[in-house]
Amino acid sequence: MKRLLIPLLSALILLSGCAPKRFGAVYTDVFDTFTELTVYCDTEDEFNACSAAAHAELLRLHEIFDIYNTYGGLTNAASLNSDLSADCPDELVELIASGKQWYELSGGKLNIALGSVLSLWHDCREKGVLPDESELKARAEHCAIADIVIDGNNVSLSDPLMSVDLGAVAKGYAAQKTAELLTEAGFENFALSVGGNVITRGKKPSGRWEIGIEDPDGGLLTTVKVSGESVVTSGDYQRFFEVDGVRYHHIIDPDTLYPAGLWRSVTVISENSAEADALSTALFCLDEQSGRALAEKISAEAMWVAADGSIAKTEGFSDYEK
Ligand code: ADP
Ligand code: MG
Repeated sequence: MKRLLIPLLSALILLSGCAPKRFGAVYTDVFDTFTELTVYCDTEDEFNACSAAAHAELLRLHEIFDIYNTYGGLTNAASLNSDLSADCPDELVELIASGKQWYELSGGKLNIALGSVLSLWHDCREKGVLPDESELKARAEHCAIADIVIDGNNVSLSDPLMSVDLGAVAKGYAAQKTAELLTEAGFENFALSVGGNVITRGKKPSGRWEIGIEDPDGGLLTTVKVSGESVVTSGDYQRFFEVDGVRYHHIIDPDTLYPAGLWRSVTVISENSAEADALSTALFCLDEQSGRALAEKISAEAMWVAADGSIAKTEGFSDYEK
């Protein structure tokens, strides 16, 4: 018996010595939000290299998709909006091209050419006042997706009063690219949350990653367990302001030019984080029937929380809650 026990014990000790450790980092300087990286790996040095690579990639993509600031010689979303035509970095071309596809997929509800309307809402949110109705309508005349023309790496905005806004899609795309970079570097078990746009790879030593989904009224609504998937929520409680007790949030229905009112939140689980981010914003503006058809089309799962608190889910969503 003793003979058996000793090799068994040493094997166990060896195994526990090899168990990966949990490391984490937070970045507050990308995508105007709170970004968190959690990694299981063997040493702190390994983690530091992982975190430095992730942070550098997120910063690089943040600068490319930033619509508020320009950065020296870099052509980014802000410089494209002011110059109206530019040879753009591959990532900017790719995200704009995918934005044009999402316009078609969502029946125009996700519109990256909505910049002129969104910037008015943005300014009003900062001031705590409502936009002028006629100003909103005037700006809506300059949001045609067809006026974004892509020719190789050259992107042109044919309407000088239009602008692109990548806020609905940039974080998910950046999370996807960063995860791909870390996977290539050999990291297998990590979770990255870019302002709640979560992407996971592998798992924790104790099992799948557990991602909490907020109740729009506070607290936790549910938890999903994933290993490799992305989980992204769009909600009316994330960025908003109030006028006369009415809440005005940051996702604008292009058909009404006002905050979309059907849902409190929509959560998407999907293989691809860029897709999950785009889909969650699109579903937030779509009715349940159209939303279900779209989620099915791209093989994603979704959960909708309605204004009255009632909850709808795609069939496969609940499998992730077990
Ligand atoms: P969050 O940025 O809070 O994660 P979303 O991914 O849903 O939420 O994106 C919201 C952002 O997308 C807004 O802040 C705005 O920049 C932009 N946006 C709002 N409405 C639309 C829309 N209908 N189509 C495209 N972009 C939008
Ligand atoms: Mg989104």
